[in-house]
Amino acid sequence: MPQIERPLGRVAAPRSGQDYGADSKPAPEVTAKVRRLLKCKQSNEHMQRVMLEHAGSFGTDATAVLEAARKMAYCGSWVWLRDYIEHHKVRMVRAAFCNKRNLCTFCDAARSRRVIAQVMPKVQALHKRKLNSYMMTLTIPSGPHLLPLVVVLFTSLRKLWLRKKVNKAGALRHVLGMIASLELTRNRITRHWHAHIHAIITLELGRRVDARELRADWSAYNGGIQVDLKPIKDPQRDLVEVFKYMLKPGDLYEVGNSQKTAGNALSSLDRIEAWLVLRKRRTRFAYGLYFGLMDDALVEPELTGEYVDWLIYWQSNNGTYRLQREKDGLHGLV
Ligand SMILES: [Zn+2]
Repeated sequence: MPQIERPLGRVAAPRSGQDYGADSKPAPEVTAKVRRLLKCKQSNEHMQRVMLEHAGSFGTDATAVLEAARKMAYCGSWVWLRDYIEHHKVRMVRAAFCNKRNLCTFCDAARSRRVIAQVMPKVQALHKRKLNSYMMTLTIPSGPHLLPLVVVLFTSLRKLWLRKKVNKAGALRHVLGMIASLELTRNRITRHWHAHIHAIITLELGRRVDARELRADWSAYNGGIQVDLKPIKDPQRDLVEVFKYMLKPGDLYEVGNSQKTAGNALSSLDRIEAWLVLRKRRTRFAYGLYFGLMDDALVEPELTGEYVDWLIYWQSNNGTYRLQREKDGLHGLV
């Protein structure tokens, strides 16, 4: 993926006193990172199996499902990691990605990490300037067909923002910026889709949002009356909670172990169905002072100092990663 590509550098010599020789073991940060990547790859593999097995049940979309599964097999097959020894930080320099958004956990996890790294410092800085931020949830009535629901949901969100931007009116008139993302559940019994938006909004100094006014605005667009507003008081703590809902890998889907929604979390087949409907649509939005922050590009502060490169290769025969020290760059792979 281009945004995390960096020029090849020379591999640093081992720091004295550190065991970074040819047969050395990776630092705990490296093994922790590999463990996280392994979980994502295993989830990606599970989804591929479901896709290959059930592609036929998606009718004319069967070819698209099979093609996506084929690309996902390549995703995460190798990852180049760089361990910045003095910073105790491990970064992904380059990797195989499939970009099957909301279907491939490996890609979604990487994408979520990039968005969090951009949004978190921004909200924290605004909080220091005493600007109020809220977590906002907007829901529309459930329905049997997904496409009309998301069209209504996204149109309503856009109307809400345009009313503020163009007419300087409505419940959001004092909002400076908003980031929002779609989340879906599906009722196991009725099979109705439940679509809602999770958002963070930040207001002008000293301003608040009136929940009743917001409910009236929202309801006028789509009949939805479920509107929640929760102030972000401690960004460090609250934002972790917000991001758990907004930016978890595969942000279309409720947290599987959430008590409230576990019964209605999407199955793998529901996820494929949702992907087919949403694959060419945006499911995350950023307005005002957050504009651009939900894009994939991430400019991380450059790390300097000595580093050690590691490569992990996916071993499909036993479903694990093989880790090896890389001394000469990745010339064989890229
Ligand atoms: Zn992928």
